[in-house]
Order: sequence, then C-alpha cells, then structure tokens
Amino acid sequence: MARKCDVCLKTIPRNRGYALTTTQVATTPAYWEYAFTHQWAYVGKQVKLLDVTIQAGETLENLVQMVASDYTPWLICDSCIKLFKVDRNQCLKLAKHFTAEMPNGWQQITGPGDLKETFSAAKKAYRSVF
Ligand SMILES: [Zn+2]
Repeated sequence: MARKCDVCLKTIPRNRGYALTTTQVATTPAYWEYAFTHQWAYVGKQVKLLDVTIQAGETLENLVQMVASDYTPWLICDSCIKLFKVDRNQCLKLAKHFTAEMPNGWQQITGPGDLKETFSAAKKAYRSVF
C-alpha cells in the first residue's frame, strides 16, 4: 500500500517522508490553516451557511479531538514539512526507523497530543482562515 502524506494526502515515495509526533502536528496553527483551506474547508462554509457559531464550534471540537487523539506518528511529505518548525533531521531519522522496524505500519506510539494546546492552535487558525 502506498504511503500518503498525513497533511496533503499525496503519495510519498518509498524511503521518503518525515515522521512527526501528534503534538508536533496538532499544536501547529499552520497545519490547521492548511486543513481549513483544503480538506476541512467545509467548516467555514458551514459557518456562512448556517450562521450558527455553536455548530461550527462543535465541529471544531470534534476535529480537535480526532487529531489530538491520534497515537501513531504522522508521515509528512517534503512539501508539507515546511509548515512545521521541527528538527528535520530528527524527523527523517524517526521515519527511517519506523519504516525499517515496522514494515507493516505505524505501530509506534507518539501521541496523543495535548488537547488544550491543540485546541488553541486550531482556534487561532480558524480565526485567521474564516
Ligand atoms: Zn504533504
């Protein structure tokens, strides 16, 4: 099975990609900004359509829960890694290690992420995008 970037969903070639922890991804507002302008753009449409902030808040909470509770590493492509302020060499090493040790998947546990910090990153991005 082809491996896909956990941010943009594009296929990542064998032996490429960076591995990040859930906290590294979930607490980065740039990650949320990407998601809100791509796969989760519907959240903004929902706000405009219904004009009900509570509903959008609920959706946001669900997304935050889902992202923060991910306990496996995130695989990130060469392009999306630019969104994150991380030690790239370390993330490369982590990715190589996981691929070598666990050919069947991401069984290593690096999460869950901090829920409060994740929510604050998501809210920040939410305000700047919508
Ligand atoms: Zn990507």
